[in-house]
Amino acid sequence: MNIHEYQAKELLSKYGVAVPAGKVAQHEDEAEQIAKDLSADKFVVKAQIHAGGRGKGGGVKLANGLKEVKRLASEILGMNLVTHQTGPEGKLVSKVLVEEASDIATELYLGMVIDRATEKVVIMASQEGGMEIEEVARTNPEKILKEYVDPTVGLLPYQCRKIAYFLGLKGKTVNKAVKFIIGLYNAFTENDCSLAEINPLILTNDGDVYALDAKMNFDDNALFRHPDIEKMHDPAEEDPTELEAKKWGISYVKLDGNIGCLVNGAGLAMSTMDIIKHHGAEPANFLDVGGGATTEQVLQALKMILSDPNVKAIFINIFGGIMKCDTIAEGVITAAKEVGIKVPLIVRLEGTNVELGRKLLSESGLNIITGSDMRDAAAKAVEAAK
Ligand code: GDP
Ligand code: MN
Repeated sequence: MNIHEYQAKELLSKYGVAVPAGKVAQHEDEAEQIAKDLSADKFVVKAQIHAGGRGKGGGVKLANGLKEVKRLASEILGMNLVTHQTGPEGKLVSKVLVEEASDIATELYLGMVIDRATEKVVIMASQEGGMEIEEVARTNPEKILKEYVDPTVGLLPYQCRKIAYFLGLKGKTVNKAVKFIIGLYNAFTENDCSLAEINPLILTNDGDVYALDAKMNFDDNALFRHPDIEKMHDPAEEDPTELEAKKWGISYVKLDGNIGCLVNGAGLAMSTMDIIKHHGAEPANFLDVGGGATTEQVLQALKMILSDPNVKAIFINIFGGIMKCDTIAEGVITAAKEVGIKVPLIVRLEGTNVELGRKLLSESGLNIITGSDMRDAAAKAVEAAK
């Protein structure tokens, strides 16, 4: 699960991580009031969406005085912000963070993720702040320090100092950075984070360090331990179809291709996407109705696929184990009656009750293309989508 920058900053400040003073607003008057309470003369107004690159997209603006805060908040609120991470359709902005503007001497980078290979938290630091770390890793890997934390002893002060020196910090700033890194690490481990990224971490002309930006992701499987984190979930940030799918117990992820996939089991769903790509096309979604799906779930799944205007063919790939092939057939027939299926339907059924399933489909009067096996069906789906 992801949270907004303002939520991450609120959480981090509880762990002693220095963040600029500020608050979130949903209305321009509220934004102005927040600025007034901050009693500064320069502010920054920042769009709150779950995507990076807001600065370049026009979602981060500096304001001189209260009137300008109000004007910028009214411009940013309600805007459709397009960044390289939102895709061309952009994201609607409904909240802005109003902060006291920081006086930046240097922009640095500090991030933490779990390294699967070593099974440790790895802290990454770089003087190339404000840039995408993936880009730095590609072009100048030596500019990134990676410090691995042994979970049995935790993060040690000497490791924090090593990071601070690598970042070029000196004097009293080193101690401030050590406190900052320890705070970030504690927030990371105590809340079961999968990622925490401060980009940029800034050094001010007064020798202070602040988290100017903050991104945190949490392990969904550990959310039950953190009801306070779970409460920060913002449904507006999720694809509406994906939310609908969750309600029905279906795993659905929208993708950019034009072949809708309805599959049972995550492994089969992955190989279905692979085989579509192998035949030169792109899947429109990942969709797993689960091992023991009901007719109702199949119906809902088909409705979701059909709601995507990019879908030019539907590939139903089912291996009936617990799932019975006749259940799938009934779901497909009901969906065809209820919503109509105007695109070619390619079906590959195998397993429990396969004969009954095939019979139901062939007697349904639906225009169905059957595949003799997975490869054959995938090739037919790719052909039909052209
Ligand atoms: P992102 O573009 O979504 O990553 O948003 P950031 O929060 O990282 O902001 C983008 C950039 O805006 C930063 O790298 C800074 O250069 C600039 N910026 C943000 N806040 C301030 C501020 O308080 N003062 C100044 N001078 N620049 C800021
Ligand atoms: Mn940033």
